[in-house]
Amino acid sequence: MLKYVQDTKNEYVEFLKKLVSIRSYSGEEKELSECLVEAFKEIGVDEAFTDGVGNAVAIIRGTGEGPNIVLSGHMDIVPEGNVDLWVPFKPYEPEIVDGKMYGRGTSDMKEGLAAVYCAMKAIMENVVKKGQRLSGDITFCGVVQEEPAVMLGMKYFLEHTMEEHDIKCDVVYIAEPSNNNLTTGQRGKMELVVKTYGKCAHSSAPEEGINALEHMIPVLKAIFEKDGITLLEDAAGKTCLTVTNIEVKPGGTLSCIPDECEISIDRRFTPEQSDEDIIGEFEAIFAKLQAENPEFKATVEPRYFDMVSWTGYEEKARKWHPSWQMDRDNEYVVRAFKALEGIGQTPKEQYSKGGTDGSMTCAIHKIPTIIYSGGEGSVCHKEKEWVDIEEAVKGYEGYVAIIADLYGLDLKLFD
Ligand SMILES: [Zn+2]
Repeated sequence: MLKYVQDTKNEYVEFLKKLVSIRSYSGEEKELSECLVEAFKEIGVDEAFTDGVGNAVAIIRGTGEGPNIVLSGHMDIVPEGNVDLWVPFKPYEPEIVDGKMYGRGTSDMKEGLAAVYCAMKAIMENVVKKGQRLSGDITFCGVVQEEPAVMLGMKYFLEHTMEEHDIKCDVVYIAEPSNNNLTTGQRGKMELVVKTYGKCAHSSAPEEGINALEHMIPVLKAIFEKDGITLLEDAAGKTCLTVTNIEVKPGGTLSCIPDECEISIDRRFTPEQSDEDIIGEFEAIFAKLQAENPEFKATVEPRYFDMVSWTGYEEKARKWHPSWQMDRDNEYVVRAFKALEGIGQTPKEQYSKGGTDGSMTCAIHKIPTIIYSGGEGSVCHKEKEWVDIEEAVKGYEGYVAIIADLYGLDLKLFD
């Protein structure tokens, strides 16, 4: 292990503890965001601020030749659930037992935020403060509201903050848990709202109405029998879809035939399938049903949420993670493998079944994206979430090596 990383291991652990002890639910990231900005100011980066949506941003400016990189991670956590299931641990009072730190957000993904912070601190202390400028900018972006799957913080960063603060970006590294492997692609996820329509009537005379729920039955049948639905395979196996909710309007006990029925669909898909393909499947199903029954009427659209960030920024955000896949021979992927192997790590190439901000950076904004950190993928969102300290510190060292490789820095600077 690089001597500087070894020597600062305790600092890393203490910083991680501090981040875990701040309860940063989605929409409530203020304290964590300010804590990160303050920490970056302390190490003397060129700029550190919270942006309009509440992201924590910090920049080490280079000479402008590039590459310009963004190191990112989400600040929000999912709730801890039933605290009885955490005993003997407490979700926001991190404790280390047998080399593992327990607490909500340890692996997902405060270890990643801490790793990136410490790697930038290593660059400040061993390179920048010694008088050497990097050829490109390193920008840290700790984003808000990743967990609700609407990518609110990353979208704002890419569409507003970058221009406002003259931030350039050739490649994004996301420090989501990857067990120190390199995640270079991600399965797509879309939440759809399907509605069928009818006509209200008194339930004592149902023949006078059109029951929207009845019209949903053939739609549900098509979904469960995968009739007209193409489920392609990707690196994680066969994709899927399922129905996660159903409701009618007017609902309850109003003695009323419902004139609207709504279902929620969770659809997973591959990089080959576009939004239009996914939505088009449902439109084709509806067309067929309407040909059989002229009274049948249905619509399909993506799910949107009205999001408000801790700064009061509001946006109608889409619950959607388009799929993406980096080429194995992409320059940044090749270099990340080389840099990590150079310090004795043995990363494997991975593909993620879950959603990350890579959908916003790579699928939508076409910026090369790589996911890497020492977080443990299998414990995310569960009780007694933990991170292995050795693995997390390796992730920190990995970021030092990746940055050093990109800017042609001798690793001896960190020895
Ligand atoms: Zn995460």
